[in-house]
Order: sequence, then C-alpha cells, then structure tokens
Amino acid sequence: MPKELLIQVAPEVAANAQLLNEHLAKLLHVNRSEIQHVSILKRSIDARQKAIKINLKITVFFQDEPFVEDKIELPDYKNVANAQEVIVVGAGPAGLFAALQLIELGVKPIVIERGKDVRGRRRDLKAINVDHVVNEDSNYCFGEGGAGTYSDGKLYTRSKKRGDVDRILTLFVAFGATPDIMVDAHPHIGTNKLPQIIQDIREKIIECGGKVLFETRVTDILIKNNEVQGVVTQNGDTIEAKKIILATGHSARDIFELLDRKKVFIEAKPFALGVRAEHPQSLIDSIQYSCDFRGDFLPPAPYSIVKQVNGRGMYSFCMCPGGVIAPCATSPGEVVTNGWSPSKRDQATANSGIVVELKLEDFKPFAKFGALAGMEFQKSIEQKAWYLAGQTQKVPAQRMIDFTQGKVSKDIPKTSYVPGTTSVELGQVFPGFLTQIMREGFVQFGKSMRGYLTNEAILHAPESRTSSPVRIPRDNETLVHLQIKGLYPCGEGAGYAGGIISAAIDGEKCALKIAEALGLAVS
Ligand code: FAD
Repeated sequence: MPKELLIQVAPEVAANAQLLNEHLAKLLHVNRSEIQHVSILKRSIDARQKAIKINLKITVFFQDEPFVEDKIELPDYKNVANAQEVIVVGAGPAGLFAALQLIELGVKPIVIERGKDVRGRRRDLKAINVDHVVNEDSNYCFGEGGAGTYSDGKLYTRSKKRGDVDRILTLFVAFGATPDIMVDAHPHIGTNKLPQIIQDIREKIIECGGKVLFETRVTDILIKNNEVQGVVTQNGDTIEAKKIILATGHSARDIFELLDRKKVFIEAKPFALGVRAEHPQSLIDSIQYSCDFRGDFLPPAPYSIVKQVNGRGMYSFCMCPGGVIAPCATSPGEVVTNGWSPSKRDQATANSGIVVELKLEDFKPFAKFGALAGMEFQKSIEQKAWYLAGQTQKVPAQRMIDFTQGKVSKDIPKTSYVPGTTSVELGQVFPGFLTQIMREGFVQFGKSMRGYLTNEAILHAPESRTSSPVRIPRDNETLVHLQIKGLYPCGEGAGYAGGIISAAIDGEKCALKIAEALGLAVS
C-alpha cells in the first residue's frame, strides 16, 4: 500500500530526491531500492526554530505497486464559434478565467481589453520606467492579463474554498505553470513566466472560437429599461450582447465614473493605503531565518506582519521577496507603487506594501463625489506624490527611521524603483492621521521583527491600489447587478476579489451563473 506521511526534513534533504529517498528508507526501515516513487503533496517552511525545517506531506509508493503519475490536462473546451455571445470587459484574471469557463459551458466570450497584448505591453512598461511616460491604456495595471501579468504572481488567497483554489491552480499548470504551485504553501509564478501563460490562455480562447479584442476601450454600456444591450468602444463601435461580465479591475476610474454618470448603483468601499518598503533581502533573510546567510537551499524569505495601531490594522501587503518596486500609475500626473519579482526571486531587495486600513469616514473631505469619494481620496494622494517628487514618475522616498522621526532623509540610496526617487518627508504625502499611524506602526514592527526598523529600509509612497475604492453591488445568488439586468460586476474592480486567484475564481463564478441563466447544463 502507498504510505502517506507528514515529515520534517532539513532544507538540503527536501531539495534533493536522492537524499529524501535515503531519509525515507531509514525512517520506514526499508531498503532504498524498495521505494519506487515519492509524491510531494504539500510543502512549507518551518522557520520557528534555529534549525529551519521543511514540512512535507508525501505519498511513498513502493516497488510492485501500481503507480501512475497524475497528468494535468486542459478541460474539454468546446468549439463556441457559433454559440451564444457574452461580452467580457477586461482581460485580467477575472475576465480570462470567465472566458475559459464560458467556453467550457458552450458560450462564446467576446473579451474586450483596452490594453495591448503581453508583448506590446512591454514597450509601454519600458516607457514608464525609462521615459516617465504613462500610457493610459497600457501600463502595469492595464493590458493582457490585467494587473496580474507583470506581478510577483503570488497565488495564495484567503479563500477557504480549497476546491475552487485548486481548480484555478490546476488550470495554471495545464497552461504551463510549474506543478510546484500545487504543492507549495505559498506558491508563486513570477513576472518572467506569467506572460507566456497568459498568451497561451488567449490563444486557447481564440482557437475555441472566442474573440479577444485588444486596444479596445469600452466607453459606454448601453442600457435600456434597466437591461444591458451591449457596449460602445472608443472608436464608436457598438458590440451587442444581453449579458456582460464587467471585470475592469480596481484602476478603471473611467468605468466607475461612467457608471456614476449613468446613475448605475455603485458605492464607496474602504480599502487600504500606505507605502512600499524596501529592505536588503539579506536583512529580511537574517530576521526570518535567524541566520547570517540563508544558504543554498532556502528561498529568499518572505514576511507577513500585522499590528493594531490607534484602532486600525496596519499590515504588510503583496510582499515580494527578491523583487522590484514598479511604477503602477494608470494616468499621467500621478505616482503609484506596487511590486513584482521574477520566478527565482533573485533580486537583491525585498519589498512590501505596508498599508493601513481606511474607513469610509476618512473620505469625508471628498463627500461631494458621493460613491467616488474613496477614489478621489486615493487620486489626491497619488497626485500629491507626483507633485512632491518632481512631476515625473520619480517617487517620493524616505528612510524608515527618518520617517518615524519626521526628518527628511539626507540622501536616498539607489532602490529597485527604476524611474528614481526624490527625498521627501512622507508626512507631506498623507493626511495627518495616516502618517501618525504609520510612524507608530513601524516602531511596533521593529519590536516584533528585530532589525526591520532601520534606515537601510527605504519607504516609497504611495501604495494606494490595494483593492477597489468602489463596490458595484450585485445579487449574492444570481451575481447580477442589483439594478441592471444582464450586468455581472466581477473581480477586483467590482469589489469581489483581492488578488489573482480570487479574481479568477470570481470570473468562473460569474460565467457559471450566466450559463445557468441561459438554461445551459451546469454540472
Ligand atoms: P485586473 O487584473 O485589474 O484586470 C482588469 C482589466 O480590465 C485590465 O486588463 C484593464 O486593462 C481592463 N480594462 C479596464 N478598463 C477597461 C475598459 N474601459 N475597457 C476595456 N478593458 C478595460 N495579486 C496576487 O494575487 N499576487 C501577486 O503577486 C500580485 N502582484 C501584483 C503586482 C502588481 C505590480 C500589481 C499591479 C498587482 C498585483 N496583484 C497581485 C494584484 C492582482 O494583479 C489583481 O488582484 C488582479 O489582477 C485582479 O484581477 P481582475 O481581473 O479583477 O482585474
């Protein structure tokens, strides 16, 4: 009988199949040659003790037992060239996984994306980084694959529905991601690998008869008698459909403004806002692994930290070990940060958003904007950052201890943020209450993670696109907008996801509900 085991081994043993087999043979009192295969089901790091261990959940298959390697294959996608059409606005994870699910169910998706395909997008990312030019349709947030394409590709989520998460991970593997993502406690793909996966998803959609339109911005949603009829694009073209999945992400301010103008019910939603902190990766390794040098077998260490400060949560967000801080503005005249990393996470620095939870009452100074109050609050901080750093894509920056003491840093060393930094007292970027919380919060972080509070760490401001500042409300059961028939608000922009996996899950959910509404068989 195959044997399922939970074991703890040294990192060098976990990294080497031969050493692992030897370890298991000893543990199980068998000869090494009796072990046919070891399947790793789950892998995590236990860094609580001085001698770091790797937790493994494994199945050991012995000789003379049937063992067939599980092959992950694509689902049986249908040809939908002549099927009923549904519009999917946005080719982020929500839109793309909605499109795949529609195809599986026999519906033809027409995916409409304002940005360029993954290749075309690269040139515009270079333009932001090098020339300080922001293309409003093609940037780190907009374009094929959405905000997730040039990201760290972390694939963990707070979703408790393991089945839903595993389904998305399986699809990622079927489209070319490493099978390790099915096993690791904190899986990630990396910026260098994601674009090919995204491109393969697009090619499958087209091969099955779906449509994908790039550089096509939706500028209007046609509504008659409270029911959608189709969309209008920036060229004035109309594309008709009675069902629209609206998956435009948290940065599509023009879509929020459009809905507001058309009196389609939307509401302000709290989000979180703060800075992006960058430390030397070796410093984070030494804190997290309690060692001077992490060695050859441990990955660059991540961290996760949360504190309550003045009754608000202040926490690390989208932490990227061995990563780079990216300029994520979607319009000229603003500065926004976020982070990415390559699959090996082999850059010299560790960065993380450090953000404070906001409350609706914080948006009061922007109350005249109604449902867009949070968005205007967010915009005002991004614009102030742009202004203070010199009206380019340079970012206001400050050393961490200097920030806690309200002192302008004398100098800012080169950081991973390519457009460059300007030394600014970051208290000028944020409202007073937020600055106070962050000053106090970093001191508390330093007490929990000895070495974290250091002037070697550079803060970049702001980290402001943590989730959507607007919710587009929908019925919990049908997922249809509360007021507009046929409109399916979806993914992060609508307020129903916070990351690649949860956005993809939400895309699938909307597609399933559409198939149900069309009377198609949904198993
Ligand atoms: P989006 O990905 O935002 O996609 C929306 C799409 O709609 C975009 O492609 C946009 O161009 C398009 N669109 C907008 N308006 C229109 C319009 N009017 N007409 C047509 N198309 C339109 N999440 C993680 O889980 N792990 C990570 O490691 C991670 N790292 C990140 C790093 C960076 C640099 C960034 C920016 C984000 C990161 N995120 C990460 C967040 C993650 O990318 C998002 O949560 C996720 O992409 C949301 O998916 P979505 O499909 O709902 O929206």
